[in-house]
Amino acid sequence: MAEKIEARNLQEVKHEMMTCTMCGFCKSVCPAFEDIGWDPGVARGRVILSYGLLQKDIPADDSVVEALYQCTTCRDCERRCPSKVRVVDIVERARRDLVESGKLLPSHRKVVDNILRYGNPYAENRSVPETFGERPRKARLGYFIGCTSAYRNPSTAKATISIMRKLGEDYTLLDESCCGSVMERVGWNEEDVVARMRKNVDAISAQGVEEVIFSCAGCYRMFKEEYPKHVEVPFKVRHVSEYLAEKDLKLSNLQKKITYHDPCHLGRHSGVYKAPRAVLAKVPGAEFKEMPRNSDQARCCGGGGGVRSAYPDLSGQIAGKRVDEASFADVLVTTCPFCVNNLKVGKEGSKSKVEVMDLVELIDPLL
Ligand code: SF4
Ligand code: SF4
Repeated sequence: MAEKIEARNLQEVKHEMMTCTMCGFCKSVCPAFEDIGWDPGVARGRVILSYGLLQKDIPADDSVVEALYQCTTCRDCERRCPSKVRVVDIVERARRDLVESGKLLPSHRKVVDNILRYGNPYAENRSVPETFGERPRKARLGYFIGCTSAYRNPSTAKATISIMRKLGEDYTLLDESCCGSVMERVGWNEEDVVARMRKNVDAISAQGVEEVIFSCAGCYRMFKEEYPKHVEVPFKVRHVSEYLAEKDLKLSNLQKKITYHDPCHLGRHSGVYKAPRAVLAKVPGAEFKEMPRNSDQARCCGGGGGVRSAYPDLSGQIAGKRVDEASFADVLVTTCPFCVNNLKVGKEGSKSKVEVMDLVELIDPLL
């Protein structure tokens, strides 16, 4: 029989959990709930289960673990919540308590073990700069590629490098390793996450860069929002869309209907909505149209919070619905390799013909 656990991390958000009025407004937006269909799969249920763990009213059995790990941490419930309950904070603290009690899911265990051993989730031996045939050096601008673009979506990294070259930038690739996002999302201990932050900041600082750009929304959120809570970040942090929005881009014509998917890490978690749209507005000939749910109300792609690796079917179903929303367009552009990958999975189960690509992949051939 599953045991009751010591929930010392949840103790810190006890008041937050008691703020939930059980109104159920979160049901109208939760992408996971739409497929799961019962209360443990929505913010309200996750808050109740977390409170139950804290009070030792319920054991941490498989159904509780599943409910808490099927949240994509998209934060749409927080936007919709009249009481502004910090649901994602509660869920991630509950996960930390579960991990401390030995409840880490096997798929997440593998990813964390790889990060601790290889410095990336994919057990790759080559460093990121080496993968692209470059050496880290001193320069004004650094590009933090991120593990997923480096080892799984090299087209995003290549397009970003190509753009920087075309714009005549004095850039360098960085002596980077995993930013710690996945570890934090699945509830791994803070000590190891902060160690990753220090390692990256020290290595990047040693290269003397003034500014670092990111093509991964998850890495960007870590450096912009999470790192400064624990370490000093002595360089400017910008998403590649913010960098490109300020440039005078001379782009060729593209006669296509384009729409844009806001990654949760870039949008609701970091507040970057205008920059990617400003870049798309520079494309001559393109017709831009928003999806019905956009900007702070954008639907999650289903790939975040460790859901993709632990619950691929749920993740794919959420992605399929998001792709369907874009079926009026020729191109569905986004700004995160996780979203690109998951939306492509969603497209497999969708009738939509829309082409999914990263913003930099759209811009590079036009520049
Ligand atoms: S919307 Fe907020 S207050 Fe209402 S049930 Fe959901 S989490 Fe609780
Ligand atoms: S963060 Fe997203 S997936 Fe998690 S409970 Fe809230 S709306 Fe649902």
